Formats: sequence, structure tokens, C-alpha cells
Amino acid sequence: SPVEPCDFTVFGGTGDLALRKLLPALYLRDRDGQLPDGFRVIGVSRHTADDDAYRAMVRDALTQHVSSADLDEAAVARLLARLHHVELDVEDVGAWHLLHARLKEGAASEDVIRVFYLAVAPGLFGTICEHLDEVGLATERSRVVLEKPMGSDLATARRVNEAVGRVFEESNIFRIDHYLGKESVQNLLVTRFANTFLEPLWNSHWVDHVQITAAESLGVGERGSYYDRSGALRDMVQNHLLQLLCLVAMEPPTYVDRETVRDEKLKVLQALRPMTPELVDRDVVAGQYAAGLCDGAPAKAYVDEVGQPSDTETFVALRTEVQNWRWAGVPFYLRTGKRLPERVSEIVVVFKEPPHAMFPHSEGPTEPNRLHIRVQPDEGMRLHMTAKEPGPGGIRLRPVSLDLSYAAAFGARSPDAYERLLMDVVRGNPTLFMRRDEVEAAWAWVAPILDRWSQPTHRPRRYPAGTNGPVAAATLLERDGRSWQETE
Ligand code: NAD
Repeated sequence: SPVEPCDFTVFGGTGDLALRKLLPALYLRDRDGQLPDGFRVIGVSRHTADDDAYRAMVRDALTQHVSSADLDEAAVARLLARLHHVELDVEDVGAWHLLHARLKEGAASEDVIRVFYLAVAPGLFGTICEHLDEVGLATERSRVVLEKPMGSDLATARRVNEAVGRVFEESNIFRIDHYLGKESVQNLLVTRFANTFLEPLWNSHWVDHVQITAAESLGVGERGSYYDRSGALRDMVQNHLLQLLCLVAMEPPTYVDRETVRDEKLKVLQALRPMTPELVDRDVVAGQYAAGLCDGAPAKAYVDEVGQPSDTETFVALRTEVQNWRWAGVPFYLRTGKRLPERVSEIVVVFKEPPHAMFPHSEGPTEPNRLHIRVQPDEGMRLHMTAKEPGPGGIRLRPVSLDLSYAAAFGARSPDAYERLLMDVVRGNPTLFMRRDEVEAAWAWVAPILDRWSQPTHRPRRYPAGTNGPVAAATLLERDGRSWQETE
């Protein structure tokens, strides 16, 4: 059903994120009838562009980034008609009245909902919020959306949160982690809590360990200068991987609303085993890709892509535990990296072996039950079981799988995470966004790793592009008698 009319302002409206993700998401929601009359999209940037030039730019972007099956000329025209562009350097104090005037002119109503999406460098978040306040645009009906990176450590995250929090109430601040908007990630909660068969097994009695992987086959490409100051720990682990871990490990909330789910996630972050320098050395592996072969083509080393010597990690694998009643002693293994063999994000819950081996004389392999939750691409779920191979002879065991592919089960296109999340912002529902305390708890947990790695002796281990990361990542599990599951 349609959302309320809204003035959706994107700071950085001509940038990569806006053109590649945000505008295609708004287009698809509009095409499906979710944007009412009076819903406007206002791009703000330093570009010199009038409305027509901006519309042409967005038309190009839609052609490039929306699949042709989803492009519909009437729907494109409808979205373009909602578009406006305001040229504004947000650091230019004197120019802000312009934005104010443009938003007042032709607004659906005096108290129209206003969304301010900050798709610009986080260094500008504080300034933008301050000026929004000064020109009277930060009202109770305004919401602000913050993109990652949310700071680069605990101190900078706090500074950003404080600057934004001086102007906006926490309930109007939407910190986006697009992993939380993915269908398969939301479905994880439904699978756990709207069914009876899994939850009794979802604990240290029956779960042997959990693996979470977010692998990319691409290198840093054009983003080298940003990435080199960040690295995989800040770019992927502190946010996306820890959020996924929270959803796997959290307790069932009494009901689902904006605070209950986030309260439970926060408790998981607070229960993570604190890292010490010894644990960092033992349980956290940093890697950086060297030259190699990726997708059949030669790939350059990371340092050659960024054009300078660097000890920034492009790969992290780590082992941690959630120290509470449910999960005591169950390892959670996390890994992420660039220039790995394929792009795949997956959560694997590996169950324990049956308590008694009843088929000692059977032939064929036995494997523990595993639940694979595929986050991207091809979202879905697969449960690995053991079955008897049909035949008149003895008992021969064979692994089989129960599959839920979203595309096959529902036949419908899985909406992009941004489609869902942007509409949640307009509706004012922050359940799938990170609360301030969650972001800060996650930074606090990674702080000892950042600290340890800031020592001059720290060097990430090199791995050839196109392989599964440094050997030490495999050893991390072998030491515990386990191994990384093949992603599938
Ligand atoms: P970009 O360089 O492609 O675009 C930046 C945009 O901000 C442009 O529209 C530019 O005109 C505008 N801008 C910059 N300084 C400005 C100023 N002083 N006043 C007004 N407008 C200004 O960057 P991007 O890739 O779109 O990324 C934007 C932010 O989002 C970055 O912080 C990035 O880390 C983050 N982010 C990007 C992606 C992505 O996929 N590109 C994903 C997650 C987070």
C-alpha cells in the first residue's frame, strides 16, 4: 500500500550510491504503486544541474542499473517527474536558505514528511544536521538516514552520533545496514521464530558451531583511496557480519517492534567474548590479496591497485563466542574478503553429530546436519540431512538437501534491500536499522583488534587473488577439528 507523501532529499544525489542503488530502489517502489502523488525526490549535490539535466542523468542510471524486464517507460516518466535537483555545497552556510525555499515551494503540505538521506562522506553528517536545524528543516516530521561508514572507531562513531543526536531524536535517525534489508536475513527471524522445529535445537546442546561468510570476487577497484583507510574489519566485520551474527544468536523478543528486536541484538553484542591482545593474535587473521587469477583472468595485487605500499587488510577471519546460557562454548567463525573465488554471503549453522551411531556397518559418508542460509546472490535456504539411498541391499547413507530457493518458491523478484529499507524510513519504522548503542557496542568489541593491528609489527598475511584467503584462516578451524563449509 502507498506510503504517505514525502519530500525525499538525497544529499549526494549525483553520486554513485544514489544513482546505482537509491534511485533504482525508489523507481521500483514507484512502479509498484507505492509512491503517492506529492512524493518528491530532491537530489542535492555540488553539481551544476537543473531539474532537466538531473532527470536525464537519472534516466541513464535507471537504464544501467535496473534490469530491462523491470523498466517501464510510463513508470520511468512518473519517477522523473518527481525529481528535482538543488545545487548546494553543504559547507557553504549562506546557500542553505535555497534548499529551504525549494522544499517549501510546491510541497504536498506544510507538515509533509521529510527524509534527508546523507549519501555523502560521514565527515559532513554533523554539518548537514546543524544546517538543517538552523534553517528549520529538522522537525519532528523529519528523518535522517546515515550511510556507512558510521565512524572509523568508537571515538569517531560517538562524535558522529553526538553531532546528529544534537539535532534529531534517536527515533528519527536511521543508520542503514543494507544487509538487514535482505529478504533472506529477515526470513531468518521468521524461520527461527514462526516455526517450532528449529528453535528447540538452536543452542549449544545441538549446534556445534556457526559460520558466517561474506566473500567478494572483486578487488578494491576505484574505491582504493577510501578502502585503504578502512580495511575489511571496519568495512565489513564491525557492521554487516556482526549484524548477521546478532540475528542468528539473539533471543526471541516477546513481540516484534522497533525496540524489542534491537534490544535483543544489543544483548548479543554485549555478550561477545571480549578480545584481548592474546586472543587477537590467536583468533583473528588478517589477509591482503597478492596478484593471482580471479574468474579466469589475471588480477593485480592490492598494493598495485592502490598504487602504494599498504598493510590494510582485505580479508579477515575470526573466531568468537557468545557468552550466554544459550551459546556457551559454541564457536562463531566469521570471514570476509575481497578477491576470493566467488561473490557469496552465507550463514551456515552446523549441528552436532547424532548422539549414537546406529548404522555402524552402513556404507557411505555421514555428515552432520547443516542449515545454509544464502544471503546473496540467489537468496534461499538449504537444510542438509542424511537419507537412506534407495536399494534392496544393505543400508547405504547419503547426504540429501531440502531446498528453499526464493525465486523457485515464490516466483517473484526478490526486492533489493534498499527498496524495503527506504520505505521503512518513510513509514518511520526503524526496526531494521542500527540503533546508536548497537553501533557503539560493535565498535567497542572490535577496538582491541584495531589496537593490536595498529602496532608497527602487524602485517596482514598475503594470499593469492582468487583463493580462499591465507592458510591461517583454514588453520583457525582445523585447530578446533573443523573446516570451512563449501559455500554453495
Ligand atoms: P560519490 O563520490 O560518488 O558521490 C558523492 C556525492 O556527494 C556527489 O553527488 C557529490 O556532488 C556530493 N557531495 C560531495 N561533497 C559535497 C558537498 N560539500 N556538498 C554537497 N554535495 C556534496 O560517493 P558515493 O560512492 O555515492 O558515496 C557517498 C557516501 O556513501 C560515502 O561516504 C560512501 O562511503 C558511502 N557509501 C557508498 C556506497 C556505494 O556503493 N557507493 C555504499 C555504502 C556507503
